Amino acid sequence: MDTIEIVYIEGDGAGEDIWRASKGIFEEAILKAYGGEKSIKWINLIAGQKALDKEGQLLPKQTLETVKNKKCAIKGPLTTPVGGGFRSVNVYLRQVFDLYVCMRPIRYFSGLPSPLKSPESIDIIIFRENTEDIYKGIEWKEGTKEAKEVIDFIKEKSGIQISDDSGIGIKPISKRGTQRFTRWVIDYAIKNKRKIITIVHKGNIMKFTEGAFRQWAIDTAKEFPKYLRLEEDRLKDDVLDERIVINDRIADNMFMQIILKPQDYDILLCPNLNGDYLSDACAGLIGGLGVAPGANIGDDVAIFEPTHGSAPKYAGKDMINPTSFILSGALMFRHLGHDKVAVLIEDAVEKTIQSKIVTYDLARNMSGVNPVRCSKFGEEVAKRIGENS
Ligand code: NAP
Repeated sequence: MDTIEIVYIEGDGAGEDIWRASKGIFEEAILKAYGGEKSIKWINLIAGQKALDKEGQLLPKQTLETVKNKKCAIKGPLTTPVGGGFRSVNVYLRQVFDLYVCMRPIRYFSGLPSPLKSPESIDIIIFRENTEDIYKGIEWKEGTKEAKEVIDFIKEKSGIQISDDSGIGIKPISKRGTQRFTRWVIDYAIKNKRKIITIVHKGNIMKFTEGAFRQWAIDTAKEFPKYLRLEEDRLKDDVLDERIVINDRIADNMFMQIILKPQDYDILLCPNLNGDYLSDACAGLIGGLGVAPGANIGDDVAIFEPTHGSAPKYAGKDMINPTSFILSGALMFRHLGHDKVAVLIEDAVEKTIQSKIVTYDLARNMSGVNPVRCSKFGEEVAKRIGENS
């Protein structure tokens, strides 16, 4: 029997529960997709708190080297202390492997509870630039020598007074970073026959970072006249053709748009922070963070992980929804060229939800439905792999 090597990093907190619930689903999907002729060989790595406890470092050399060599991994969420302790291992992984594209598909599966009247029209992919903006992590604590120097420098250069007791953060966004990210997303949109790309920015206020992001993305889109055209050109000639339309929305407006007219949106192209906010907000439209998968992709390496964090209050309770992890696995198998495996997983998740077998987060918004445990949900999905397909 052939084996497919898959590298996984078990998460912290409730990350352990979702891993246990998902593993059997992935194994079953590979077996079914290849008629029993292939199976998974798991390569287990550690990172974050577990690695710190066991090996005295957050990202052991072996973890980094194995991910680099194998070029792909699936990981659970890792805890990052707020306001102190260590910096985010999740962010560090994205930087060290230059995973500049964060992809977060927001797809409605029938049966999911939603605050919208017609959630079935939602099929949005949020692409978030993954290495710049606030992910550069440039900050100085209030009262430090560095914070004071930056405050003095700004006063000297611009005359702007900043209160001495301020913490300082800097958000760089570069032309090169924006262009390579935009090109990647355009390539994806063309290959996957998407219809609209919307640039989401706050360029009215942050002109040289978010405003520049908008302009550089538009300039990049103009390199592809055969495949893309600007919304204003599309409106002017009023002729429908197959080309992808590119438009832009200011971020605050975008939050309203996704609630009132989600059907008008397809791909959202976002700088780092906007993409972060929007992916959780959009997840809320299709059932919540428990069903929102994600991928971090670079030119060499890709790491797949749920959008949510380690949900510490549910750690070890076998309660949280493993769907976002399961669907992140489907994204990974598609990335590795195992499309049939991905389809089997997605179909089985949908059938399970349609059968009203759901965890607490979905059950609380569905009348008369009792929640099942995280592990039970995993078993039910595994049972439905390949059912009537
Ligand atoms: P979180 O872990 O995403 O949890 C926030 C809330 O979202 C939960 O309390 C729960 O809401 C809901 N939720 C999240 N995952 C769920 C699931 N699988 N099923 C059902 N509900 C789910 O966010 P956080 O509490 O802000 O962050 C906790 C830690 O995770 C922090 O250390 C943070 O830095 C880290 N984090 C890591 C990643 C990553 O590894 N990529 C991403 C984000 C955050 P209810 O309580 O309403 O049920």
